[in-house]
Amino acid sequence: MATYKQPCIHCGEMIERDSRFCAKCGSRSPFGYQCPTCLKPIERGNVLCSGCGRPLTVICPYCGGRTFAGGDKCGACGKSLMIRCENKRCGEVQFFENAKCTACGKTIKNAKKQIEEYKKGGN
Ligand SMILES: [Zn+2]
Ligand SMILES: [Zn+2]
Ligand SMILES: [Zn+2]
Ligand SMILES: [Zn+2]
Repeated sequence: MATYKQPCIHCGEMIERDSRFCAKCGSRSPFGYQCPTCLKPIERGNVLCSGCGRPLTVICPYCGGRTFAGGDKCGACGKSLMIRCENKRCGEVQFFENAKCTACGKTIKNAKKQIEEYKKGGN
């Protein structure tokens, strides 16, 4: 059976349509943007998420520039805006502003600390 492929909107790599993420650039929403907090589909240019009401423009913690929250990376400096869920049995990537993990529902308390560590790490 043929597998249908579609380009990732972030990097252009052709990937299978049922992929949950792009293996090339690591995006978790390769065919469209989604709200990083409630995972509802969003459009680039939307100001607020229609699902949870969060602003879709965020201030990048690394460069201080404004960037769209639907991407995994800051549009200005290219740094990842994602952190890891601190629950060891989960470990899913999460948007840095998420108070709770979208996968396991647990509170993420060390987001700021993770960002500080990335800053120190220099990448
Ligand atoms: Zn990609
Ligand atoms: Zn939302
Ligand atoms: Zn930035
Ligand atoms: Zn989790």
